[in-house]
Amino acid sequence: MNARSLFEKVWQDHQVVAETADAPAVLYIDLHLTHEVTTPEAFNVLKSRGLAVRRPDLTLATLDHSTPTVPVRSLKDLERVAESSAAAQIRVMIENCREAGIRLLDFDSDQRGIVHVIGPELGITQPGKTIVCGDSHTSTHGAFGALAFGIGTTEVGHVLATQCLLQRKPKTLAINVSGRLVPGVTAKDIILAIIGRIGVGGGTGHVIEYRGEAIAALSMDARMTVCNMSIEAGARAGMIAPDDVTFQYLQGRPMAPAGAAWDQAVKRWRGLPSDADCHFDREVSLDVSRLAPMITFGTNPGMVIPIDAAVPADSGDSSFRKSLEYMGVEAGKPMLGRPVDVVFIGSCTNSRLSDLRDAANLLRGRKVAPSVRALVVPGSQATKKQAEAEGLDKIFTAAGAEWRESGCSMCLGMNGDTVGRGQLCVSTSNRNFEGRQGIGARTVLASPLTAAATAVAGRISDPRELLAR
Ligand code: SF4
Repeated sequence: MNARSLFEKVWQDHQVVAETADAPAVLYIDLHLTHEVTTPEAFNVLKSRGLAVRRPDLTLATLDHSTPTVPVRSLKDLERVAESSAAAQIRVMIENCREAGIRLLDFDSDQRGIVHVIGPELGITQPGKTIVCGDSHTSTHGAFGALAFGIGTTEVGHVLATQCLLQRKPKTLAINVSGRLVPGVTAKDIILAIIGRIGVGGGTGHVIEYRGEAIAALSMDARMTVCNMSIEAGARAGMIAPDDVTFQYLQGRPMAPAGAAWDQAVKRWRGLPSDADCHFDREVSLDVSRLAPMITFGTNPGMVIPIDAAVPADSGDSSFRKSLEYMGVEAGKPMLGRPVDVVFIGSCTNSRLSDLRDAANLLRGRKVAPSVRALVVPGSQATKKQAEAEGLDKIFTAAGAEWRESGCSMCLGMNGDTVGRGQLCVSTSNRNFEGRQGIGARTVLASPLTAAATAVAGRISDPRELLAR
């Protein structure tokens, strides 16, 4: 057999019908993750056509997007704290899941959380699976060697009804990352640098495989951060070959295989990494030995610079100028030192335990600047519990930050956690589009270390300075 890439192996294993010039391939889906926003409409279509959910056991539902991050234990609580539209969405989700026999991680579940945090935490995200969800950042699960991508509402309906999807086969892009990160520089900085290099359309039509010593050296949390933002480079998905780090992360998790099934699964998973001489449609290389913390200055994640660099000169391009105007920044001037109003540490990019530990390390014994609102939102209730067992919540609250229940929160501001018009927010999330965190809000994407250092200073700050003290 020809040498095959990781992507090719997973694709071939799930292809029910191969694509032709006239028709896309039919791909079998192993796992469908879902939440309160995209699913209600899909259920309506199913009901109107008299269709049942084909495999309710292969869909897992959670509450995250419009879910309040203040304590809610029941629907009665929800009516009290949530906007009526959000409460209605959640009520419909609960009813639909009950009717279809889909497992829902409800308010009273200590496994509830952001859809891309709970899958890995529960061990249901596994190497070699095809995973879909009605959220662009489903690429996160590719960190395990899964083929995972976001789908729209219509496709959510297809998966619910058939457990299959029609898909054109993407091309492959290998991104080879070499070198060793210096202290203060993280996986978030790697992926921002990659997007800066290839651009927000650089991965279009491709599945990226992140490879090389710098990727192999990352923890699973860090690998998820990298794969999470693949979509911001326009890619269909991002993948990393499973290895011992992956297996150690998964072993013993509630929904991972156990006993003899575990041994068989690991044997199978060890065959997934790309063959040595396989072909990629494109390759890009990046050495991260000298990488600095990265921050965005504009209104897409490709408008990114090293934290100690100046905003690029005005290119004369009207969209570039418009973007700078929206952000209130000037070409040729540094971002470092700009006063900020809000710091958000959370989202499926950076709300895992290691992210919270990074931020807490910098905030320990320090105070958030009085002019700053700092919001720390763990990715799941399980992460929250573990963080509290380690005393991280105490560090955050002693510093003056808010410590919340899990959810998407200020990543997209659907649950009432928003940034005000004209306010500048340093955020560990994944999108800095106009209005993403609230109408007129200005978003600067950064790592949890940069966000924490900024919260202390009240200005955009280089975490390497605080780490050196
Ligand atoms: S945190 Fe943001 S990107 Fe992630 S699932 Fe929620 S809304 Fe989507």
